[in-house]
Amino acid sequence: MQKSTLVAQFHGHGKPFEICEQTIATPDPGSVLVKISLATICGSDLHTVSGRRSAPTPCILGHEIVGEVAAPTAVRDAYGQALHEGDRVTWSIMAWCGKCQFCTDRNLPQKCERLFKYGHARNGLSGGFAEYIHLQPGTSIYRVPDCVTDAEAVPLNCAFATILSGLEVIDVSAEKFAVVQGAGMLGIYAACYLREQGYQIVAVVDPVAERLQIAERFGATHTFNLSEMPANLVGQALQDLTNGHGMDLAVEVSGASAAFTNSLDWLGVGGSCLTLGFVYPHADVTVDAHKIVTKCLTIRGNHNYHPSALGTAIKFVEEKRERYPFKELIGAVYPLKEINAAFDRAMQGDLIRVAINP
Ligand SMILES: [Zn+2]
Ligand SMILES: [Zn+2]
Repeated sequence: MQKSTLVAQFHGHGKPFEICEQTIATPDPGSVLVKISLATICGSDLHTVSGRRSAPTPCILGHEIVGEVAAPTAVRDAYGQALHEGDRVTWSIMAWCGKCQFCTDRNLPQKCERLFKYGHARNGLSGGFAEYIHLQPGTSIYRVPDCVTDAEAVPLNCAFATILSGLEVIDVSAEKFAVVQGAGMLGIYAACYLREQGYQIVAVVDPVAERLQIAERFGATHTFNLSEMPANLVGQALQDLTNGHGMDLAVEVSGASAAFTNSLDWLGVGGSCLTLGFVYPHADVTVDAHKIVTKCLTIRGNHNYHPSALGTAIKFVEEKRERYPFKELIGAVYPLKEINAAFDRAMQGDLIRVAINP
């Protein structure tokens, strides 16, 4: 077994990542050592590095990860099958206990009282920007199908699982008209998933033209550029598209406060708003609550995801990979030693994902 690993240590906002060597401890029974083959920089990593949200330091960031089991293990995958050295895997963003009230009665294991979240913890090999990672007991591990490439698989365990878990809690089955606010990774996955669910209109709204062009290749039926068109005109266009009905579903994945207020304006009577983007504190929004009452709106938030959503995400990409260019969502790949340049590139905001290949 490998004795040591390179890691990129994060020391806090405004400080560069430090590449250093760490000893690989012998994994405890119930944990799994994985050799990382690809990790992507998620929007929440950018929030952390830019100081919008705090992290315990020093730590290893990165939680969108794919890799290979690197040592024999008795741990089983999420479907109860044995795992073998060399298996390509991805896994839930968190480990949970399976015993507390959130894991059992409330069916919210993503809010487990003893939650452990990858890429957010101090010490240990617990983040993706490294050569190796230890998976903790209580992690849902999924094998990556042979036909699904690392680039197609790597953002699934955060972005796609998050959007699927949110859409599952709000029940989107009988609706027709959706607007997705934010054409980042979550918004793009939302667009193709809703299209495949039979939505007639999947409108995607974002201020960046390049992102909207990508959304069009992922099932968006209409796109609106907020840097060229004020929100009230977008609302009018959505009314016209739906013959005055308004939207059935608004999916907020931008984290912009205006996206939440726009959702309340654009939804029709009986509509639902799923909000996932406010993953940083003090996201204060002033709304006219009158609209919530008189339109009989449902507003639902969701954080992290139910681990079963990752299995659904993998199956979706396995089945639809010929129809949507998932691998092209990775806009640039950097070696681990160039992680500072990778973050600079990701901060520019025009690429959906920047990846690190250790
Ligand atoms: Zn993430
Ligand atoms: Zn628990």
